[in-house]
Amino acid sequence: MRFEIRVAPNSGFCFGVRRAIEIAEKTLASTKEAFSIGPLIHNPQVIDRLRQAGLQPVDSPEAVDPSGTVIIRSHGVRPDVLSRLNERAAKSIDATCPLVKKAQQSAELLALEGYTVVILGERNHPEVEGLVGHAPGAIVVNADEEVPVLPHGSKIGLVAQTTQYPADFRRVIERITRNDFDEARIFNTICHATVERQKAAVELATDVDIMFVLGGRNSANTNHLAKICKATGVDTYHIETAGELDEKWLDGKRRVGVTAGASTPEWIIEQFVSRLEKVSGG
Ligand code: SF4
Repeated sequence: MRFEIRVAPNSGFCFGVRRAIEIAEKTLASTKEAFSIGPLIHNPQVIDRLRQAGLQPVDSPEAVDPSGTVIIRSHGVRPDVLSRLNERAAKSIDATCPLVKKAQQSAELLALEGYTVVILGERNHPEVEGLVGHAPGAIVVNADEEVPVLPHGSKIGLVAQTTQYPADFRRVIERITRNDFDEARIFNTICHATVERQKAAVELATDVDIMFVLGGRNSANTNHLAKICKATGVDTYHIETAGELDEKWLDGKRRVGVTAGASTPEWIIEQFVSRLEKVSGG
């Protein structure tokens, strides 16, 4: 079988993920071992490699060795997690993506100024948990949920998890403005790299017969990519590695598209493309 293979521009590591990995590698080069609260990024294959290099993900600050070094993951953490780490006297190195940090600061500012903070995002995602920690009492809504009716005269503040889809953000803004509010303040905290990646993926998906989205199943932005590619009507498969490819999926396909989430390394994309090339007889 022969087919054309096209990889979407802006696939793979974003600057925030690249930065977090560089920080981890640099730290491990001198300390030989370090901890992270939860996985540093959402890609199991990269986490396995970092684990082999000495990075140990743990669930809570209390699980960190008091004499050890802890790296704050790219999704950030709640302020109380930071204080607990400081109390434990572990050395902490912050690898929170600067854009996530900006979203945290926006949520905190809104809460301090008395706004009812609404966060568009996935309730159990670590980034969103961190945002809620910066704006206690914030209301989290996902793209499919209605915004609860807020009391008359409310001051409403809105931020988004950085990897949300702009169309969903606009929908939430529209729902918010249906409230009988006094004031609304909106911070568009969606990351530009995510928007560009999503645009490129949708553009490619509309021009191929099958689309592959590479990345961690626990990665919010990869799941979003798969969702929006699927929404174009093209056959879409979300897989983590080349080993998951079922060649039967490619029967009769002439044009094959590939994109990858922000936490998917170049080597996973390359391995997958070379597997496709082999199947295509290239
Ligand atoms: S997707 Fe954007 S916000 Fe998230 S880590 Fe990457 S650069 Fe930062």
